[in-house]
Amino acid sequence: MKVAIVGAGLTGSLLACYLARRGLSVTLYERRPDPRVAEVERGRSINLAISERGLDALRRIGLVDQVMADALPMKGRMIHPVSGPLDFQAYSASGERAINSISRGVLNNALLSAAAAADGVTVEFEHRLVELDSAAGELVFATPAGKVSASADVVLGADGAGSAVREQLLAEGVVAENVEFLDYGYKELSIPSAGGEFALDPGALHIWPRGTSMMIALPNPDRSFTCTLFWPAGSFDALTSTDGISAHFRENYPDLLPLAPDLVDDYLNNPVGVLGTVHTLPWQAHGRTALLGDAAHAIVPFYGQGANCAFEDVVELDRCLDDTGGSWARALPLFEARRRENTEAIAEMALANFVEMRDKVASPVFRLQKQLEHT
Ligand code: FAD
Repeated sequence: MKVAIVGAGLTGSLLACYLARRGLSVTLYERRPDPRVAEVERGRSINLAISERGLDALRRIGLVDQVMADALPMKGRMIHPVSGPLDFQAYSASGERAINSISRGVLNNALLSAAAAADGVTVEFEHRLVELDSAAGELVFATPAGKVSASADVVLGADGAGSAVREQLLAEGVVAENVEFLDYGYKELSIPSAGGEFALDPGALHIWPRGTSMMIALPNPDRSFTCTLFWPAGSFDALTSTDGISAHFRENYPDLLPLAPDLVDDYLNNPVGVLGTVHTLPWQAHGRTALLGDAAHAIVPFYGQGANCAFEDVVELDRCLDDTGGSWARALPLFEARRRENTEAIAEMALANFVEMRDKVASPVFRLQKQLEHT
């Protein structure tokens, strides 16, 4: 039984680890060069919050300790008002429960190395899927050496929100999609360590709620923070001059300016990312080709649950294979039946949490409500 996984991101690499444990022959195709030796793309989501849902998937394949060794637990939100004192809001009544700031690159590389080391797994980098016959399991990849064909009994698309596998399934008319773009973009900015120390409390997820816009910051093991500024898409383009950028941040994020010496450079040079929710129906075709993770159901990042949810997909597909005696034709529809409701719920919650984070967390009523929930 040959399985082709398209995309060696977080979902595809984890999936390869799980399928290898079943004794399957897996080829993982990735359009990029090997990220363990290549340079990281500038300004693209350097860290992620991984919660218990994601840790559970890592624990089951013995990777949790390795990944957590580099993680920074965040036990609450630290709200930065325009003026006045900071406000720490614990995530749990005990104050002990945390989500974990983890480097996307470190996590992806750990998963990729585990997959590459597993028996039966082959990884092909610089292989970009360009054609797919989902009924026959025939794939064509663009590579530096030209087009390369491959075939597989099962094809799994783990190639992210802009999935080429999904695009091919759409072109074949076997799935339908609805992509709802948010009228907001995001840009990464950075706060370096100050004299070798964290410039902010590393035990919190920092939020600057500003009504129509919002910025967050997560700590990194090198004692820097990566900030993500969410803003209506057109607003980024309207701010272009060095003086204008400095003035904007001085007015709206006064405590950030002294901590972020490269702010203007980051702002001018880092790309604006797009945000949206992907709905696909169905996620599988012919009982042999399927979509997982962002390729099936990308969500906006405001609950920090996209990767966690993708990891849950992998655990559930593995469980469905157990429950169907390894029959892909039965496991793929079962996987979809079990996961769809959950992924639709988190998609809605992620959109709702944007309003909470950019607005409500700053309100005294919200704060009191949270205190009452904890008593
Ligand atoms: P991706 O990470 O997009 O990986 C897809 C892979 O497929 C890539 O390696 C890509 O190169 C490859 N690929 C693409 N096309 C092809 C092709 N044609 N052929 C071959 N390979 C291909 N989630 C959390 O859980 N917590 C967070 O805190 C969090 N924060 C986020 C912050 C931001 C700003 C954003 C945008 C997202 C955030 N997410 C977070 C969501 C998380 O990043 C995604 O859910 C997760 O990356 C999905 O993993 P994936 O492997 O499905 O897709």
